[in-house]
Amino acid sequence: MYSFRQNCVKKLFFQALKASLKLPELKRPEEVNEINDPNYCLYHRCVSHPIEDCFVFKDWLER
Ligand SMILES: [Zn+2]
Repeated sequence: MYSFRQNCVKKLFFQALKASLKLPELKRPEEVNEINDPNYCLYHRCVSHPIEDCFVFKDWLER
């Protein structure tokens, strides 16, 4: 369980981006603009899972 709500994850992501969050290296650069895909991960910048399900980012938030 996380200490923040699922529906806050996206908002927290943009806050984190302005602060100290560093995004991982692009694995699939061709998907970087697929932001309208419901499974686009803002953190990983590829189509895989929504940011709400991105456990890597959520673990980062928790720290
Ligand atoms: Zn992700």
